[in-house]
Amino acid sequence: MMAGSHVALGMAAWMAAAPHLGQPPLAPGALALAAFGGLLPDIDHPKSWVGRRVRPVSDLLAALLGHRGVTHSLLAVLACGWLLKRGEVPAEYAGPLVIGYLSHLGADLLTPGGLRLGWPLKGSWALPLVRTGSAFEPLVVAALIAAAWLSLPHRPDPRALAERWGLCITCESLPLPPPPPPLPPRRRVA
Ligand SMILES: [Zn+2]
Repeated sequence: MMAGSHVALGMAAWMAAAPHLGQPPLAPGALALAAFGGLLPDIDHPKSWVGRRVRPVSDLLAALLGHRGVTHSLLAVLACGWLLKRGEVPAEYAGPLVIGYLSHLGADLLTPGGLRLGWPLKGSWALPLVRTGSAFEPLVVAALIAAAWLSLPHRPDPRALAERWGLCITCESLPLPPPPPPLPPRRRVA
C-alpha cells in the first residue's frame, strides 16, 4: 500500500489495540509512533518514505535481503512479540511501534504481492483484496479507520474534537451521531 495508507492504518490499528493493552488510544505521541511503526517495514525499499531517509541502510537491505524479505516475515512478527514481552523498552513506546509495524504487514498481506512470511523460504502469502495505488485503496483504508473508531470504548464527540482542532466553528450543526453514553461502572466480583 501507499505510505499515506500505512500511516493511517498504523494509527487506526493503535486506536483499536490500545484499550486492550491498557493504554489511551488517542494520545498524540503514541499515534505518531504507531504511524512511524507503520512505515518502518519498508526500510528495505530505497524508494519508500523511510528508505529515502536512511538511503545507505535501505540500499544495503534491498541488495542483501530484497524488498518484502525479512522485515515482512514471521521472523519480524516474532521480533515484535519479543520486544513487547521483554519489557526493556517501556510499553508506552514499544506498544504503538509494534502495533503500527504489524498493521503494515497486515496491509501488505491484502495486496497481490503479499508477504513472504516464511522468509528465507520462497513463496508468498496474500489475501489480494486491494492493488497498491488503486482507487479502491482509500476506500479500504477509510473503512478500517471507521471500524477502529467505532471499536473505541469511550469515543469522544467528533464535533468537539473538530472544533478544538479549528476544523469548523459551528460544529454542533454537523450531521453526526452524538457520542455513545458513558458505560455504567463495572461491578467487581469478589
Ligand atoms: Zn511493505
